[in-house]
Amino acid sequence: MTVRAVIVGVGSALSERHFGSCAVILAPQGKILVDCPDSVLHALRCASKLSGHSLAALGIHDILLTHLHGDHANGLEAFGWKHWLHRKGSGGERLRIHALPAVAARLWERLAPSMDQGGSASLADYFDVRRLSTTAPASICGATVLTRETDHGIPSCGFRIRVGEAELGWSGDTRFDPNHIDWLAHADVVVHETTESPVHTPIECLNALAPAIRRKMRLIHMEDAFDPAATDIACLAEGMVLEVADTARSPIGA
Ligand SMILES: [Zn+2]
Repeated sequence: MTVRAVIVGVGSALSERHFGSCAVILAPQGKILVDCPDSVLHALRCASKLSGHSLAALGIHDILLTHLHGDHANGLEAFGWKHWLHRKGSGGERLRIHALPAVAARLWERLAPSMDQGGSASLADYFDVRRLSTTAPASICGATVLTRETDHGIPSCGFRIRVGEAELGWSGDTRFDPNHIDWLAHADVVVHETTESPVHTPIECLNALAPAIRRKMRLIHMEDAFDPAATDIACLAEGMVLEVADTARSPIGA
């Protein structure tokens, strides 16, 4: 089996050229949106056209949320309203948000000023919030998801997403952290962020990694000024479809 991911956004927080970093995992039992940046509805439409995969917002019921910085979470309001209005008219399931407990705890504090409908609505009216554990895998849409906290200044995490024997690593936003990279290295392909910032990972740090991990790495969260020639690690692009097949590797959870 393979993990298939449509890359929806590759930009950093301040990018003027790209959508915020996110993707849709085409899991066996549904689609999983990994992070929900600004203009997510437009971003999904663009990625649908480029990739040929239908990524309509109302066809996505699960969001894996790494953290609450705006370039990863600002789209939750529009996404939440769109699903809420649709359910009001046609019924159906609530959107599920899968996040660390520390992220889930502050979600409504962030969304309530624009979504509480004068105090009559609550988080549960829009979202079914599921807490991710860092010690036990979660099963989402037929994929197995492992979660690891990252060092990013606020509660934040990365993932390993497994379908069958194939596994995709997703760094999430993080300072350069060799322990996080060792954990991600169990995956067959690793999507890693890079941005010149004290709470992100400068490309020089990734360039110094061993060739074996650089070969399986793909870059995301790039600033507009990022020069692909500054590295031999492949850069992702919006609309690209990552097909991750399994390679020989140690067992899950190792
Ligand atoms: Zn961030």
